[in-house]
Amino acid sequence: MAAPTPNNPQPAPAGKSSPRYELLTLGDELLLGITPNAHLTWIGGQLSRRGVRLDRNVTITDEADAIARQFPESWARADVILTSGGLGPTCDDRTREVIAEALGLPLVFDEGIMGEIEARFARLNRPCTPNNRKQAFKFARGEVLPNPHGTAPGLWLEHEGKVLIMLPGPPNELQPMFLEHVLPRLARLGLLSDSETFVQLRTAGVGESMLETRFQPIFDRHPGLGIAFCAHQWQVDCRINSPDGRYPRQALQQIAEECATLLGDDFVGFGHDSLPKVTGDLLRTQGRTLAVAEACTGGLLAHSFTDLCGASKFFMGGIVSYSNDSKMLLLDCPECLLSQHGAVSAECAVAMATGVAERLSADYGLAITGYMGPTSQGDSGSGTLFVGLHSPLGDWSKKLSYPGPGQTVKQRAVTAAIDWLRREAVRETRRATSPLAN
Ligand code: ATP
Ligand code: MG
Repeated sequence: MAAPTPNNPQPAPAGKSSPRYELLTLGDELLLGITPNAHLTWIGGQLSRRGVRLDRNVTITDEADAIARQFPESWARADVILTSGGLGPTCDDRTREVIAEALGLPLVFDEGIMGEIEARFARLNRPCTPNNRKQAFKFARGEVLPNPHGTAPGLWLEHEGKVLIMLPGPPNELQPMFLEHVLPRLARLGLLSDSETFVQLRTAGVGESMLETRFQPIFDRHPGLGIAFCAHQWQVDCRINSPDGRYPRQALQQIAEECATLLGDDFVGFGHDSLPKVTGDLLRTQGRTLAVAEACTGGLLAHSFTDLCGASKFFMGGIVSYSNDSKMLLLDCPECLLSQHGAVSAECAVAMATGVAERLSADYGLAITGYMGPTSQGDSGSGTLFVGLHSPLGDWSKKLSYPGPGQTVKQRAVTAAIDWLRREAVRETRRATSPLAN
């Protein structure tokens, strides 16, 4: 048989259907909008990287009635049910007891768990109150998922051909437990696969409708593809998959590479690497360094880079220079430039970029200065920004006009600035490998 290619796809395999995963997130604070549902994005992301998708997420209150009503429905429709929250010691933590009752399975007290809880309190030099005992109950035939970061262990139960995984609410407890104890168990049961079911292309500088229009001729040549676009943080991702399995992963990758070639510098990368990560990796590879100066974005630009593992290899530092005085004092912006052109100007953006690169001995300087909305609503300048870029080849500035609330404008400005730097770094790589390229 010919090797599978994008134009010669394999017939759809008759394999068994993938397991249905459901996440039941418990917590009044989630429904009151006090806490964002971080477990949905985090667990959803972890599972999708291992070839399975959360089929559904249901969020309910901590109330016993709500759990007793919802759980049987979730149990009936899913193969793997994950719950988060309500395993703690207080009266509003009822998940363990209510679910055990719904399943008709008794909970048994476990001396080993109690010993761990008591030892934790002793280590912290705090008294272990009697209400902590409820955390030491587990399913008689179930397993315990250790929790070195908190008191309540997670619970694992295989019952009626399904898997129930009960996880604690705090993300710093749930995440390591999921990675160390849940994923390996799911893999052993054959409920995960080696790779994602889709190939993701990350792009910048193109709106989603234009992106689809540019890709359409490629998609038209490959019937049966699953295509999804996701616009976020002023970038657009495109996910390509094969819902009926006719395109193996290698063929999907080939199609994605064709799309990437078509995009040129608007293509950021494959997979999940963020724009700052891709940009930082380019600078590191080139042995280049970066310093940033920012006014209205208040540190968000620097934060984008310090968030990255290994940032110290290329990121020299950042200066938040909000007032004119600080621009003069910390970035050597000339007073006459500020009085002649103003702090929100192309000239000031370039002076900030050059000043910070010189002060911090960096190859690249990146700067943002601007007026934010909506506090200055009515001010025609609101949402007007300038980005300055100092590079080994010269200095430039760009004007941006972004209407909208302050937070949105800040994030958009940061994305635009980093994307500009990325494009310069891509060009530098091209020039290094092909001196005639521009
Ligand atoms: P604890 O022992 O701390 O009481 P628990 O397992 O009983 O843990 P909850 O009481 O339901 O969990 O939640 C504890 C904290 O975990 C909440 O205050 C909240 O900050 C956080 N949390 C719970 N669910 C989520 C979620 N879906 N996303 C993000 N944070 C969450
Ligand atoms: Mg609790």
